[in-house]
Amino acid sequence: MPDAPPGRVPGEGPGQGLRERSEELAANLAEVRERIAAACSAAGRDPGEVTLVAVTKTFPASDVRLLAGLGLTDVAENRDQEAAPKAAATAGLPLTWHFVGQLQTNKARSVASYADVVQSVDRPRLAAALSTAAVRLGRTLRCMIQVSLDEPGPDRGERGGVAPADVPALADAIAAAEGLTLDGVMAVAPLGGDPRPAFERLAGIAADLRKAHPGADAISAGMSGDLEPAIGCGATHLRIGTALLGGRQAIVR
Ligand SMILES: *Cc1c(COP(=O)(O)O)cnc(C)c1O
Repeated sequence: MPDAPPGRVPGEGPGQGLRERSEELAANLAEVRERIAAACSAAGRDPGEVTLVAVTKTFPASDVRLLAGLGLTDVAENRDQEAAPKAAATAGLPLTWHFVGQLQTNKARSVASYADVVQSVDRPRLAAALSTAAVRLGRTLRCMIQVSLDEPGPDRGERGGVAPADVPALADAIAAAEGLTLDGVMAVAPLGGDPRPAFERLAGIAADLRKAHPGADAISAGMSGDLEPAIGCGATHLRIGTALLGGRQAIVR
């Protein structure tokens, strides 16, 4: 799959490679949509409440274009160095860009220039930097608070996310910041084991957040391997990479 990128299939023209890739993406998309429909039906939810966000990291801009052609509206990236050129290469397509990775304050301005939603806001300083950048650019950035669902310990913080106890203060800071709106929460389930308790915990944090900020009703949870329990626990946004695009090559950072 990713080792045979579109346009570089030996013995084939670029058109042929793109057509095959498009068929592959269409089949994956149909499968993911079926999983979403089945999980929504099991949970008594309307699939229209769930936004499918394609995580396109490590895949080329041509895949983003093909996905847009297949009707996908939301894409996500986790590294600014990769996201910025990809967003530029696909400018003009009707896409909502999500940023879902750990974000250094000095990258806030770049991310604010192309992202519509930053799902990984996890500290007040980052919110402040995004606010300054958004105001300068004349843009409004939708923000989600990334919550850490890992047990406290030495590994905590590796994948980012604010401790649940610090969500209210960060929420107030985002809601008060010019150029930002508070959309809701995002989390990655802890590695290994049943993700359901973590997603249930996130649903409780989201419910508390809505008491203070009724408009902040987004819950971004669920990836390729755990979208069903995420939907069962109220996810409104799914971040799907592998199940849509195929396996990723290891990235050398
Ligand atoms: C890569 C990534 C995903 C997608 O993961 P898959 O298991 O490939 O679906 C989701 N969320 C974040 C934050 C990611 O970095």
